[in-house]
Amino acid sequence: MKAARCWAVVPAAGAGRRMGGSLPKQFLPLRSRTVLAWALEPLLRCPRVAGVVLAVPPGDDRWRDAVGEPAGLLTVEGGSERCDSVLAGLEALAGRSAAEDWVLVHDAARPCLSTGELASLLDSLWNEAVGGLLALPLTDTLKRSDASGRVAETLPRSGLWRALTPQMFRYAALREALRVAAADGDPPTDEAAAMERAGHRPRLVAGRPENLKITGPADLALAEAVLAAREMPACA
Ligand code: C5P
Repeated sequence: MKAARCWAVVPAAGAGRRMGGSLPKQFLPLRSRTVLAWALEPLLRCPRVAGVVLAVPPGDDRWRDAVGEPAGLLTVEGGSERCDSVLAGLEALAGRSAAEDWVLVHDAARPCLSTGELASLLDSLWNEAVGGLLALPLTDTLKRSDASGRVAETLPRSGLWRALTPQMFRYAALREALRVAAADGDPPTDEAAAMERAGHRPRLVAGRPENLKITGPADLALAEAVLAAREMPACA
């Protein structure tokens, strides 16, 4: 059997409305580049990734200014939900990717994935059958609110994680799970949820809190600080 290869799909077709403004959040400037360029960099630079597919907003070519034209980047039009955009990226790999190849799906709005975190995900899952995802165990106490904004209940946090990206699954199994999920009218918010619906049990790999998703303006300032700290010489 041929050794498995690894591909990456980056869904960047969202409107990012919670940021305000007209430019989708993945195209916003961040430390002399853009959010999207930072999100792509560790994948494009990783020698274990054979190719990267970027799902872009249909009819909107502002992604060109946001990424330049890096070698090895394929583009495809995204869809109305995140899972449609990821599925479009997977369909674009048909004929290149083998069924058992790995696919890393990474949000365009996560600019602070480190090479160490990516290597840890690849090393942890490479010999797994199904795959899994980077995730963070919850550390805060959880409250459920009622309609008046008061605490209705305190929830036990043990065993709860926040799902991050990249999420890493075998090509054919992920494509099948997303085809079913995209057709069933209740779109999953991540690839792991689609795999879970298909009966799989993805593995959780501890990620880093710096691997944040840009959702509102405060996240941009945090990402800026994380990237700036990486450029500082290590303390003795
Ligand atoms: O909106 P949210 O932050 O959950 O989006 C996560 C990622 O999915 C972003 O990179 C966004 O651009 C992408 N997305 C997409 N196609 C959509 C909706 C979201 O590629 N229709």
